[in-house]
Parts: sequence; structure tokens; C-alpha cells
Amino acid sequence: MSRLDLFINRMVSQRACLNHAAALTADMPGPVYELGLGNGRTYHHMVEIMPDRDIYVFERAIASHPDSTPPDDMVLLGDVYETLPAALKRFGPTARLIHADLGGHNLAKNDAFARQLSPVIEPLLASGGLMVASDRMYFETLSEIDLPPDAVPGRCFIYRAP
Ligand code: SAM
Repeated sequence: MSRLDLFINRMVSQRACLNHAAALTADMPGPVYELGLGNGRTYHHMVEIMPDRDIYVFERAIASHPDSTPPDDMVLLGDVYETLPAALKRFGPTARLIHADLGGHNLAKNDAFARQLSPVIEPLLASGGLMVASDRMYFETLSEIDLPPDAVPGRCFIYRAP
């Protein structure tokens, strides 16, 4: 499969999984977290599909498109290993939906990062909350749920908190 195919599959799957997770959690209270702002494409989509939600963005350096840059008070700037535990202290286990797209091109590195980060993310979700990830995660209590039909298996993952 070409890199272009892989990229397209990732984009299509991110959109499909975010739409699906937003619909499944529509009746839940609580904030939404975007881990990894990057260019801001997925953040922009999340704002579009969840306009009434508080969407907090976790990023170590803002470099997004001007149209996709969150307000300063919605950014937790710094390394997620520091900002996620700080968010747990501030908000408790209240997140309705967490989306993570923190990885780069090195799959082994992404996998190691996902293993290390999973226990840091796990306590942030409210009961029934969903996590959408571009990499396979390694949670103890969250279970993987089925992808929507328009997502490509292996390019996106959805987990639900008990
Ligand atoms: N989903 C984004 C979009 O649609 O434009 C792309 C995200 S990009 C692939 C990954 C982002 O995660 C980068 O901007 C990078 O700075 C951020 N990131 C990676 N590791 C991080 C860490 N440990 N703490 C905070 N941000 C991190």
C-alpha cells in the first residue's frame, strides 16, 4: 500500500471515528480533549461536530492553521506527560471524549509511546466515555469497540471506559 493510501485511510478513519464517537457520547456531559493539535485539522472538525462542547487541546508547541487555533484558555501547553496529570487534578475523571493523534512516521516509536501513555490517559475518562486513537492503545479497564463501517480497520481505534 502506498504512503498516499495510508495517509488517506488515516484521514478517512479519523473523521469516521470522531463522527461516530461524538454521536455515541452526545448525551453525556463533560469536556472533550484533543491530544496533539498539529495543523489543527482534527481539532477543526471536532469544533464543527461538537460546537457546544468545551474542547481542551493538549500540545507542546502551537503551530496550527490560524483557522484551527484554539483560544489560549482552552490550551494545555506542554508535554502530555505533565499536562494530562494536571488535567486529572483540575477536572477529575470527567472527559466525555478524548482524541489522540500524537504519533509521527515511526510506527515502533508510536507503539512505545502508546504503551507508556495509556495509563496516563485511562483515568481521565468519565464512565462510558470514549477514546479515539490513531494508534493501538494498551488500557487495563477500557474495552475496544467496533469501528463505524466507513473507518479502515487498523488506522483508528475506539475504546470505551467502563
Ligand atoms: N491531528 C492533527 C491534525 O489533524 O492536524 C495532527 C497531530 S500531529 C500528527 C501530532 C502532534 O502531537 C504534533 O503537533 C506534536 O507536537 C504533538 N505531540 C507529540 N508528542 C507530544 C507530547 N509528548 N506532548 C504534547 N504534544 C505532543
